[in-house]
Amino acid sequence: MTHRSVSVVGLDADDTLWHNETLFRDTQERFHDLVVRYADDDVDIDAQLLAVERRNLDLFGYGVKGFTLSLVETAIEVTRGRVPALEIENILAWGKDMLAHPVELLDGVAEIVHQLAERYRLMIITKGDLLHQETKVARSGLADIVEAVEIVSEKDEPTYGRLFEQHRVDPVTFVMVGNSVASDVLPVIALGARAVHVPFHTTWALEAADAHDSDVYPTLSSIRELPGTLRAFERRS
Ligand SMILES: [Mg+2]
Repeated sequence: MTHRSVSVVGLDADDTLWHNETLFRDTQERFHDLVVRYADDDVDIDAQLLAVERRNLDLFGYGVKGFTLSLVETAIEVTRGRVPALEIENILAWGKDMLAHPVELLDGVAEIVHQLAERYRLMIITKGDLLHQETKVARSGLADIVEAVEIVSEKDEPTYGRLFEQHRVDPVTFVMVGNSVASDVLPVIALGARAVHVPFHTTWALEAADAHDSDVYPTLSSIRELPGTLRAFERRS
């Protein structure tokens, strides 16, 4: 058995360190209540929004700004142009509210990240709008604790591979921690690194991944279990 120490821990941000998806869900509910007044009875507003978001992902990328544009586009589509400009103004205001919203760390995050920093090199790896994510990292109070913050447009194998090279990280000593199996777990494992899944209670449909063999990576019910899990990683190989 080879000993595989852990030296670098990558931390996802949205819904791993702080609340994110709940904000999107709240806005989507308000959007539904607004648009339903102008839409035909047989329109599935939420399904149409998801289709528009999926269609726009390559152009807009992840984040609030792309989401807001997709809300506007969906509002126009499902009402066949009947939605008044004043309502579009409301939708744009919700997007701005989301961008200005304070960062709320999830339970245990501040304590656990400080604790991990004593033992490991820490990197925040997140995708989304560059400016918004930079702002959230600054507001989180965690910026000075981590060694690096990487804001990327996609979290896939090529991206992680590039980050490993750039930060001189040996994948076998790297562990990624996050709430998305598709973005935080599978691409990292494919590169020979390890991953820990910390699910959030709700996952955006476009982040949902098929269930995988849980023997490959541990799933935690709280980030508070992370220090123990990492030490267990170092004991087995
Ligand atoms: Mg996340």
